[in-house]
Amino acid sequence: MPTPTPRIAILGIRAPSLNSPELEHFADIASLLAAPAFDVVLLDLPAAYAGRVLRKLRSIPPYRYSLIYCCRDQNGWCEALGDGACPVDSSEIRTLWGVWQERYRLFNQGSAPERFESRVLSWLWLRDNAHIYALRDPEVPQHYRYPLLDALADNEQVNSFVWLSLMVQQDWLQEGVLVDRVRLCSECGSGRLNYIDVCAECQALDISRQPSLHCFTCGHVGPQENFLKDGVLLCPNCLNRLRHIGSDYDRPMENYRCRSCQAFFVDADVQARCLDCGLSHTPDKLRVREVRDFRLAEAGRFRCRQEFSDQTVHHFGRLNLLGGKDFYDLLTWQMQVVRRYQSPAFSVLGLRFVNLAGTLTRLGEHHGHAFIDSVADRLKETVRDTDRCSRSTEEYFWIMLPHTDDKGLETVKQRLSRVAELFSAPEVSDISLRVVSITAPQDLLEQEDGELLLARLASELA
Ligand SMILES: [Zn+2]
Ligand SMILES: [Zn+2]
Ligand SMILES: [Zn+2]
Repeated sequence: MPTPTPRIAILGIRAPSLNSPELEHFADIASLLAAPAFDVVLLDLPAAYAGRVLRKLRSIPPYRYSLIYCCRDQNGWCEALGDGACPVDSSEIRTLWGVWQERYRLFNQGSAPERFESRVLSWLWLRDNAHIYALRDPEVPQHYRYPLLDALADNEQVNSFVWLSLMVQQDWLQEGVLVDRVRLCSECGSGRLNYIDVCAECQALDISRQPSLHCFTCGHVGPQENFLKDGVLLCPNCLNRLRHIGSDYDRPMENYRCRSCQAFFVDADVQARCLDCGLSHTPDKLRVREVRDFRLAEAGRFRCRQEFSDQTVHHFGRLNLLGGKDFYDLLTWQMQVVRRYQSPAFSVLGLRFVNLAGTLTRLGEHHGHAFIDSVADRLKETVRDTDRCSRSTEEYFWIMLPHTDDKGLETVKQRLSRVAELFSAPEVSDISLRVVSITAPQDLLEQEDGELLLARLASELA
């Protein structure tokens, strides 16, 4: 059982608003680290200092996942790495820590996350509404960094932007607020670019503005000096006399002369010169990148819950659970076979446990898992060794039944009613089970593959 009160350390001066006997005070980070790890840390420090302390604490195992609050003002580092402002009293800290502790115990029981990916997902999963925040930092060539990813990377080389987009593609993370749009050198990826005007003819840098005239009769534009002949204005191109500004000629706003090739032009070209690698690019060749905040997606939350609970993995493991891509591939292959040979028939069952996610949250991690286990047990009685299952999110469950025609499917559906019985208990009565099914080949649509089929069925369950 967890201890009911967390051990709380406070770093800095003692916060007068927090009156709690279980606080232990530390004047500097070295003495805090010398003591056995605390459950909760309060930073009573100015933002700049608190940010540096957070960077340090998040990069070492004892405080990597802990709740750390900032008692004073916060800067971007504090927001990206901390747990927000300090709660007003210690009972609130106790409640927040209780929630955190329940989840922490789950993954601490299993294997501690070894891979970078799991570390980040776990960090987010441990706290409600956590984000991976982008922070503007002139010291990095891309202008933005993700302090959380940097801190959890240990010594691994991680390209944050690439990694984040991969996580979004896999549905573990979802995009948050768009913070900025930056342009980067397509050669070295640096955002330190200098935009310069160059000669439109020879691309030389040495160009200057020059007073110029524009002849209305022939459209010629040239330096003013070329129009002056014996004290009168004469177009050097059509030789017409220019008398009245506005009707014979005018002065274009911007005109450049190249000191290198002597060309005369109205609009200069623009080049982006990379200050890091020295290469020049036309602006349209630069890499455009959106900078966003990110948070855990529904599928990512589900994965954490599944990964960290021994029993869940155990039970669902015996259900021959396949990952999304593997399941699609298997389904696509079965569909190809049945289209070609018209047999063997097979069926697909889609189950949706409506309100499951919400109910699990309400039950708390511990009871939620016990409940999931009993659902898995019942499902196991329904599913046969040769069936293959997959879960796309917490609520959706798919079963592929090979060699099963519509009659066989009916039998399986009847057995499913045993699963639905579980939802009659009052604390889980919000949950209901929706079922959809098809039998191949007759229910297949032309051109459909496994992924499209599941999407069609999922929309019927919505
Ligand atoms: Zn030139
Ligand atoms: Zn002219
Ligand atoms: Zn470059």
